[in-house]
Amino acid sequence: MTEVISRDQLYIGGRWVAQAEPGKPLDVVSPHTGQIIATAPAASPTDVDRAVTAAREAFDRGPWPRLTPAERIAAVRRISVEYGNRRKDMAALVTAQMGTPIKMSQLMQSDAPRSLIDATISFAEAFPWEDVRPTAYGGESLVRAHAVGVVAAIIPWNVPQVITIAKVIPALLAGCTVVIKPAPETPLDALLFADIIEAAGLPEGVVNVIPGGPETGDALVRHPGVDKVTFTGSTATGRRIGAICGEQLKRCSLELGGKSAAIVLDDADLGATAQGLRFASFINTGQACAAQTRVLVPRALHDDLVSALQDVAGQMTQGDPMDRGNELGPLVSARQKDKVVSYIDIGLQEGARLVAGGAAPPEGLSAGWYVPPTVFANATNDMRIAREEIFGPVLTVIPYDGGDDAGIDMANDSPYGLGGSVWTADRSRGISVASQVRTGTIGVNFYGPDFAAPFGGFKDSGIGREYGPEGLHEFIELQSITTLDTTK
Ligand code: NAD
Repeated sequence: MTEVISRDQLYIGGRWVAQAEPGKPLDVVSPHTGQIIATAPAASPTDVDRAVTAAREAFDRGPWPRLTPAERIAAVRRISVEYGNRRKDMAALVTAQMGTPIKMSQLMQSDAPRSLIDATISFAEAFPWEDVRPTAYGGESLVRAHAVGVVAAIIPWNVPQVITIAKVIPALLAGCTVVIKPAPETPLDALLFADIIEAAGLPEGVVNVIPGGPETGDALVRHPGVDKVTFTGSTATGRRIGAICGEQLKRCSLELGGKSAAIVLDDADLGATAQGLRFASFINTGQACAAQTRVLVPRALHDDLVSALQDVAGQMTQGDPMDRGNELGPLVSARQKDKVVSYIDIGLQEGARLVAGGAAPPEGLSAGWYVPPTVFANATNDMRIAREEIFGPVLTVIPYDGGDDAGIDMANDSPYGLGGSVWTADRSRGISVASQVRTGTIGVNFYGPDFAAPFGGFKDSGIGREYGPEGLHEFIELQSITTLDTTK
């Protein structure tokens, strides 16, 4: 296993600096053993001020926003190369901190962010940074894409690198400067990202990295030097951040929680559907915002699908996330495990039928924060396990009566609208059902976000979009310069 090395410096203004005041560091805890494996610095409000001041200076007076888009693209290409050089270390570090099984971690916690950098570069190359339009009264309007300014990027622990890249790279390509605040559970991958930025030779203050908890995040959101907040995390925190940004008229994008429905139609191949949900529902041990956690199935097919899902739950290997043979790992923290276990108790109290897994840890895995793949059957859509985000390996199967419209209505009967999927033998029927679900992304016989297509939420799942050219728009202020033709 790669050694996990403690860090004790923040990355501010292009330099590695000590915390402004001595303070308790963040403990990095292995979710597999529950033991502290390293520490990282925790930024205080004073450090937040230093980081925002550095980013402000770099934006107001530094070279970065004044480069051409092509020059910024060239610098971001250097980030891609440096990222590629550290891919293995990045995957191992994320796994050590939050427990994604290493084989999946290499794909989703390091290869995927690297390809997202490259995809975003290609969107920037094709982006209309400047447009000239004839005015109604002669002359022309020059429409220019300006950078929004200093960006605060607040990151959760579950897919920390994809989420960091989805915010920081479009912000940089637009000409913004950035302060990154990673989650306290995953500070070390963010500091490795700072190493990458340093190696790529970006001007000082363009990217700053300050790990810390909610207080650090709150100070960052409120700081008057921040022009835009881009946040991914829980809906509860998103509401608080949105309220502060509203008060200050700060731009903000919010990528929040979900309770995505997998709608099984009456012509679906149930074995293939269960295998598809193995990935779409249990990926990252269920710690995925768009995981398909509400499975809606025609009542006549309910028992057969449940039995196929029981088979899937029995097939998945779970254990030490550094072992390449494991498909499921532990949950990130004791707090997350307690939350997931409490929902399993709630499901039992609500009268859903537990057909796989449960609150007890799998055999031999009581030291870390393990919850086995768990399936509830015969649930109803008004139960808390159907309405609230659990963020663990817990699937709620709900029978519906009536045709496709009944499945669509049930899918839409949710405060959330992040992901979704339709399972059917008929692709065009699947697309027709999908287009009636009020959700930001939805797949047919599959679920997985696509970096070329916008990702984000309807309803309580958020405001704004990431990925695709739409992700760049989030970091842009448009300016129109209109001139008249005085010769006519
Ligand atoms: P969280 O809201 O507790 O924390 C997310 C981040 O916000 C962390 O960095 C945290 O330190 C910071 N934070 C917490 N309180 C803050 C405050 N008052 N002000 C400023 N910053 C604050 O969420 P979490 O438990 O770390 O992450 C899991 C949640 O993230 C889930 O609800 C999940 O659905 C959501 N998520 C959403 C997406 C998406 O793209 N929509 C992606 C991944 C995760």
